[in-house]
Amino acid sequence: MSERPKIAVSACLVGQKVRHNGDAAESRVLTTEWANYLEILPICPEIGIGMEVPRSKIRLTKIDGKLGLVNPNDGEDFTNKMLSYAETQSDLLAFEGICGFVFNNDSASCGLESVNVYHDDNPTPTQNGRGLFAMVFTSLNPHIPVINEARLSDPRQAEHFLARVHFHNEWKKSGQKGWDAGKIMRFHNENKLFLLSRAPLMKRLLGRLIATRFDEGTHPENVALEYITEAQKGLQTLTKNGRIAHTMERVFGRFSNQLSKTEKQEVVKLIHGFREGVLPRSAPLDMLNQYLTRYNMDDKNLNRFITSVPLEMELMANV
Ligand code: SF4
Repeated sequence: MSERPKIAVSACLVGQKVRHNGDAAESRVLTTEWANYLEILPICPEIGIGMEVPRSKIRLTKIDGKLGLVNPNDGEDFTNKMLSYAETQSDLLAFEGICGFVFNNDSASCGLESVNVYHDDNPTPTQNGRGLFAMVFTSLNPHIPVINEARLSDPRQAEHFLARVHFHNEWKKSGQKGWDAGKIMRFHNENKLFLLSRAPLMKRLLGRLIATRFDEGTHPENVALEYITEAQKGLQTLTKNGRIAHTMERVFGRFSNQLSKTEKQEVVKLIHGFREGVLPRSAPLDMLNQYLTRYNMDDKNLNRFITSVPLEMELMANV
């Protein structure tokens, strides 16, 4: 399995000129920085169902309570084609091993949030829809993290999404030869600090979930899928500096007795600076990472927290 996590991306975001008007909607973050760290699979659902470039802009409709995807100019209905394509592609992408999906929001097919929906004959849309392809993908794969590309301009949201993608990739690697009880417990133990730093309540619930499901005799493959689904649900909420700083202190506690007074003060100062929002997260993380190397602390649980997103990414200087 590739070391670089795979993600799917709306094809127009990587510069493909597949939009209805023949344009692309390139996201430079994806095509320059992220492409160095991730394997990116572009996909355009509208081209996938046989639409051409250029084409009319299609819209989401709700007629008599039934959701549809139609061309407002000639009334052509693409609903069934898109539903069937989305089901097949969602399964294929999951099988391919994608660990995340970045959607272009400005689309009745790909939009994740607040997409226009036209109700019956009302010319004014409500802005509460989800594109048809995105809706099917997220329903069939609730365990795979997704994000609206517009949110990537916020470094904190971009970093958190990437951390979820890497977490998912670790889960896939751990289970690639099949899950058993030992592997699930090991995965949980290796990600405790990561979960503590981003979803502490979920960390406790997941421990209980594993114990309960094995008591009930649930098959390990089902336990592993429920585990990652619940974990990713818990990780939907952005974490806070305080939680990350608290986890840094836990890591620091593992080797602080080996440091001189000055060294200790320096680490404490960096963590405090990050907690107060005057230093980026990378400042204390880099320092902790150096000490882990110095003391040969090759512990997966520590590493998963420190490098939940590659430290060398430019992004890390902005969170
Ligand atoms: S938003 Fe989706 S459907 Fe529209 S052009 Fe981009 S990839 Fe294709």
